[in-house]
Amino acid sequence: MSSKLVYWFREGGESMRSLLGGKGAGLGEMTHMGLPVPPGFTITTEACINYYNLGENMPPGLKEDIETYMKELERVTGKDFGGAKDPLLVSVRSGAPISMPGMMDTVLNLGLNDQSVMGLWQATNDLRFALDCHRRFMQMFGNVVLEIPHSEFEKTLGQVRRAEGAAYDHEISPDGLKKVIQGYRKLVKEQAGVEFPEDPMEQLYMAVLAVFRSWNNERAIIYRNINKIPHDLGTAVNVQVMVFGNMGLDSGTGVLFTRNPSTGENRLYGEYLMNAQGEDVVAGLRTPVPIGQMREELPAVYKEIETMAALLEDHYKDMQDIEFTIEHGKLYILQTRTGKRTAQASLEIARQLVHEDRISKKEAVRRVKPEEVSRLLHRSVDPGATNQLLAKGLPASPGAAVGTIVFDSDTAERIGQEQKVILVRPETNPDDMPGIVHSQGILTSRGGMTCHAAIVARGMGKPAVVGCEGMRLDMDARQARFGSLLLNEGDTVSIDGASGNVYLGEVPLVEPILGDAFKEILQWADEFRRLGVEANADTPDDALKARELGAEGIGLCRTEHMFMAADRLPIVQEMIMAESETDRRAALDKLLPIQREDFRVILKAMRGYPVTIRLLDPPLHEFLPKVEDLLVRVMEMRGANAPAAKIREAEILLREARNLHEQNPMMGLRGCRLGLLWPEVYEMQARAIFQATAALFKAGYTDVQPEVMVPLVGQANELEILRGLVEKVAAEVKAEEGVDFPVVIGTMIEVPRSALTADEVAHHAQFFSFGTNDLTQMTFGFSRDDAEARFLHRYLELGILKENPFAVLDRTGVGKLVKMAVELGRSTRPDLVIGVCGEHGGEPTSVEFFHQAGLNYVSCSPFRVPVARLSAAHAAIKEDQA
Ligand code: PEP
Ligand code: MG
Repeated sequence: MSSKLVYWFREGGESMRSLLGGKGAGLGEMTHMGLPVPPGFTITTEACINYYNLGENMPPGLKEDIETYMKELERVTGKDFGGAKDPLLVSVRSGAPISMPGMMDTVLNLGLNDQSVMGLWQATNDLRFALDCHRRFMQMFGNVVLEIPHSEFEKTLGQVRRAEGAAYDHEISPDGLKKVIQGYRKLVKEQAGVEFPEDPMEQLYMAVLAVFRSWNNERAIIYRNINKIPHDLGTAVNVQVMVFGNMGLDSGTGVLFTRNPSTGENRLYGEYLMNAQGEDVVAGLRTPVPIGQMREELPAVYKEIETMAALLEDHYKDMQDIEFTIEHGKLYILQTRTGKRTAQASLEIARQLVHEDRISKKEAVRRVKPEEVSRLLHRSVDPGATNQLLAKGLPASPGAAVGTIVFDSDTAERIGQEQKVILVRPETNPDDMPGIVHSQGILTSRGGMTCHAAIVARGMGKPAVVGCEGMRLDMDARQARFGSLLLNEGDTVSIDGASGNVYLGEVPLVEPILGDAFKEILQWADEFRRLGVEANADTPDDALKARELGAEGIGLCRTEHMFMAADRLPIVQEMIMAESETDRRAALDKLLPIQREDFRVILKAMRGYPVTIRLLDPPLHEFLPKVEDLLVRVMEMRGANAPAAKIREAEILLREARNLHEQNPMMGLRGCRLGLLWPEVYEMQARAIFQATAALFKAGYTDVQPEVMVPLVGQANELEILRGLVEKVAAEVKAEEGVDFPVVIGTMIEVPRSALTADEVAHHAQFFSFGTNDLTQMTFGFSRDDAEARFLHRYLELGILKENPFAVLDRTGVGKLVKMAVELGRSTRPDLVIGVCGEHGGEPTSVEFFHQAGLNYVSCSPFRVPVARLSAAHAAIKEDQA
């Protein structure tokens, strides 16, 4: 722990990010680069942590330090903090080690009071400007530090504005502003029970503590939870000399991205507003103009901005998000940070930077996040959609969303948990976070591409359309008007965040088109990863999709899904209800050609790659209707005097369904247990697999690679017996068909006992595939459905579980079994091929674990294949770097 709590910008830099926060580190870096950064200092994240450790109290020595630094700042600038002549004013801004845009608080124009406002007037010769700064400061301070809602201040402001007949705030006269300031003073007294502080040092101490406090405001906590940012990092506080973008028409402020954060296009992208302060841009109250316009309006400044953007991007080797202010024609840079971007832009920029020779392929792969890749796989609006176009806004965050409209965050949060909603607001602010989280998308009538809603939505990968001026909102009536059409809360709309279009009703969506950047980055990922990636696929369509997305085989083909189709289910039921083995075999004979064709098509589609076919796994009752439904059916048939034979049929079905009822079907008669009791079922499946293989071999497809997988093995001898059965069928088919083909037989490891005795099991298995869905259920003793429906959320709330173990592999428990089984299995059979086919196979942190545990491959649903490819590359790169 360092005891120094305050640093000058010039003392800081990128290497001190955790102590000084991202903003502080960036200000330090830019100061070193000689960029025009107004001077100031950073109070460390450690000071913030101390503040919390001390029960939310000012850390000892911090007040004195701040005072010393302010004295020095007065000396450097030649200005007087709170002074009656040319007063020093500062901004007080938060800045966490990991960027959390807009989540914490800022106070601008600090140092203004009745005395210094006169000084500001004198210094600028502009009374209106001085008074406007004062009222802005009081409003921000009142809101952030004294926690009085903005709307209260807006009421006072609105009253004066209306009384003066002004359309905009900047048209209010100096006398009007004086009234506003008086009104604010009264408001503070009433609402906070204190006089507005006049002593500037007092203002500063209070503001610093308020910024510390804002680390733990509700929206910041939600943001950290969503983005998995630790809660104990704390925020730094940056105190910086104010420069003014609202000093007249030769002043302004703006936000700039060095490349397009939506598409990645290599061109300056941003917006600015003349005669305005930063909050005017971010709040989205006035619509700013595109940066390109500055080329004509202020050509010299534009050139300077271009140069600085290039310098900063080159320095950080990444796209930057830069805040700037122009004061009387002079440019100042207030902040630079790595810019938030859409998934598409993220991949595109990483790819461009490699082609521009600025970063390595490895770095490009490392920078792309698995969730960005999965976001790109989302769907968009079908170009052939014929839904009525209601309006067009700004395309703030791509992706399409459909939902019923709701007009406030609370409603969105409540209803959004059950059904799809679109949050509709004039603009959003940080208090809307809970509602945004539970919405499919966001639609606002105001704001620009860098307004709050746009930034948050892009960060979360949620579709957003902002600044939709064709939509008129009546928030009291909870209605949105589009031309002559009036929509009420609960009506359905669709938004397209890529085009800005808003449609009536539910639009049809289409699958994503994966661009060149996607393909190239994933190809590079393949160069680094050592873990194979296969897919769980049961149909030829899924298999083809999986191939397209880069799967190197099918790691799990669940054959039960083939039994569920309408043309097979009656035969399967006939098989289940057979009174004797002979009858059962007769039904199975009917299934054989159907299964054979299933396998032939899939094997052919995947030729050159392994296809792991799992023999029947679920309990048989899953193929019958529910007992309750059958009971009703029988009763109704009897009541309606249905033909006796029909009633009899329904009664037998009911009897069988009752017979098959189990207390815990998950742990009952299923998987290999069923295969041992009714061997003819597995025999039929093995025959279908090998006959399909033989046919393909004879047709010249000798590169098809079926592998037979036995589920739910808990003891080595279960596998030993079933392996014998499968091998016997293989030998018969080879003899009958007169062809030879390799036979590969393995098992799932999904019962803890098989993991514990993996050395014995490996005697009979050429491969293992961890069924981590069942392994998790049986290791925890949770039934997944029951746990997720009844108590898992409470476990997560109480912190008893950190993650849902069915989504993220439990490394401590289930992971221990995995590692043990890998070790034991390979002790018997060193060339044992080991994979995983539970849902964890497509989850990034679990993929990392499987890499570390020495597995050969992961298998996951086709749409997660690209995510697994990237995650596997990340795991390998991380290991190499360590
Ligand atoms: C598993 O248990 O992880 C598995 C893949 O099998 P299923 O989900 O079909 O039970
Ligand atoms: Mg299973």
